[in-house]
Amino acid sequence: MVAGPSLEWERITAQVMRCRLPFCDVTVGVVHAGGEALVVDTGTTLAEARAVVRDVAALTDCVVRHVVVTHNHFDHVLGHSAFGGAQTFCSAEVVATMADAGESLRADAIRHGADPCEVDDALAALRPPVGAVCDGVVELGDVVVTIAHPGRGHTAHDLIVVVEGGPRTVVFCGDLVEESGDPCIDAQSDLDAWPGTLRRVLAAGGESAVYVPGHGALVDASFLRRQADWLATAASGRGQVGC
Ligand SMILES: [Zn+2]
Repeated sequence: MVAGPSLEWERITAQVMRCRLPFCDVTVGVVHAGGEALVVDTGTTLAEARAVVRDVAALTDCVVRHVVVTHNHFDHVLGHSAFGGAQTFCSAEVVATMADAGESLRADAIRHGADPCEVDDALAALRPPVGAVCDGVVELGDVVVTIAHPGRGHTAHDLIVVVEGGPRTVVFCGDLVEESGDPCIDAQSDLDAWPGTLRRVLAAGGESAVYVPGHGALVDASFLRRQADWLATAASGRGQVGC
């Protein structure tokens, strides 16, 4: 007997689904077709990431062959080792964080309420991916997945994932877009560049695309325009905006 899924999945198209992990409401995306799956972001703990692997197998009959880590924050990075053997798309900054920045990942995760033992387990297993690249195209059956860096914003190295070939284009935005709270602006962010980067995300997906935030509910093109305007206002006033 095949066990059912252990996480709650939101179906976006026949080939695209996502889960809002209970911890931090971080999105994990899945694109699946032709027996292979691509996962977007990896969560904070090995338990979360292993549940994703199991659920992908149970729900899609696909094996995770590709992983995209959108940026180097703990809630997107720490589950990476559960996808051993998959090809990883991420920036050089993410590779460096996995190699050298365990202490700051740990501190950030615990500051946000993660279980220290679970974080330590994830860090003990974490290895920088070999042969990672920061952009490219993956074809899964008829589905074409483009991984790209649209510019500086939430960090200097955020990646987006554009999924075409289904009834609607789907764009995983990482934390360049947040719906469940204000965009997280911290010392890594480039507030001046961020609105322009969002306009490039919009150009990549188009007016009718579904945009998937790093945290929060699915949004549309008009939401991205409003967020770009909000960021431009914050940049002009240097408003105090925290994570
Ligand atoms: Zn982030």
